[in-house]
Amino acid sequence: MIFFDNASSTPPFAEVITEFNKISSENYGNPSSTHKIGRLSRSILDDARDSIATTLGINATKILFTSSATEANNTIIHSLLYNSKIDKILTTKIEHESIIKPLLIQNNKSIVVIPINKNGLLDINYIAAQIDEKSCVALTIANNELGTIQPFQQVIELSKSKGAVTFFDCVQIVGKSSLEFISQADLVSVSSHKIHGLKGAAAIICKNRGLISPFIIGGEQEFAKRAGTENVAAIHCFALALKRYQTNWMQNYSILHEYRNIFLDELKSKSIQFEINTPLEHSIPNILNLSFPGFESEHLQLALDQEGICVSGGSACSSQSIVMSHVMDSLPISDNTKKSAIRFSFSIFNTRDEITECIHHLKSILNRR
Ligand code: PLP
Repeated sequence: MIFFDNASSTPPFAEVITEFNKISSENYGNPSSTHKIGRLSRSILDDARDSIATTLGINATKILFTSSATEANNTIIHSLLYNSKIDKILTTKIEHESIIKPLLIQNNKSIVVIPINKNGLLDINYIAAQIDEKSCVALTIANNELGTIQPFQQVIELSKSKGAVTFFDCVQIVGKSSLEFISQADLVSVSSHKIHGLKGAAAIICKNRGLISPFIIGGEQEFAKRAGTENVAAIHCFALALKRYQTNWMQNYSILHEYRNIFLDELKSKSIQFEINTPLEHSIPNILNLSFPGFESEHLQLALDQEGICVSGGSACSSQSIVMSHVMDSLPISDNTKKSAIRFSFSIFNTRDEITECIHHLKSILNRR
């Protein structure tokens, strides 16, 4: 099996599995309990919070654990929509659905759509013209389908100069870039299973907890901002994975960048016709979104799957019809390019041989027509 779908989830580090088993079996106490077993769980949770804070260069009290980045994003958008100091939310059409869907509630806020180019890069001048002190700029910093990195530093500077709030979904950028900018953003979401941790743990990082209104209620956990017993073992593993992956981001970057280049070189050497939707100079290194005009993304994806190669397409089967992803659908590119888009996303655990094998199968699938 070749797994080139690492933007959807990643294989956990071996130590993550070992630690998960250990903590789950030995430290099963509820971290809110006051007895010894509970206090042990509490200290594991506190240590994980401290470790994440150290890795990200922030204060531990800024971290609120959630079950997923979807929950983190929903909570953040919900908080913004019900914040009387915010009138306007500036965003794009290619945000993750966990941002787009809750924004539909609107709650009398003005939702301003920032234009994007064919690679998903936003128009910073548009933000400059629209932003004011009652705005929030809500952005997915590295797009999960295209890999496009938005100009976050410019957004931070513009927002600071106007007194606006910034919300950055950083799920895909962790481990592939310096994250110094996170301490300058007001609200951030990150997820564990995208960085070789486990599913079931994620976090909101907030400069000021007053910005968050609880979305899940019925308990005082997480500074009374997110009710529900914390997933101690998964959070412990989240901290481990983040420390290992983020500390080595430069090394990760060069491995992933090399894989992407090898992939492109091999495609060219096999004379395969393709278009590149990812802006190579403004993207995280592990995502390569390509179109193979004349072929349907869905069919290519299935044919690769039959060869044991996992990738993700720009469209998916939904009951009887094929539904285009909202990201591809929002790009000012031809229908042909949209319909034939495939996302290859690599991890540091992939190998060059897997790339060669993938290209070999891709070539024969494309030749079958
Ligand atoms: N944000 C981005 C950019 C993502 O890619 C994803 C997952 O694909 C999410 C949010 C949601 O993350 P989770 O799987 O932790 O809910």
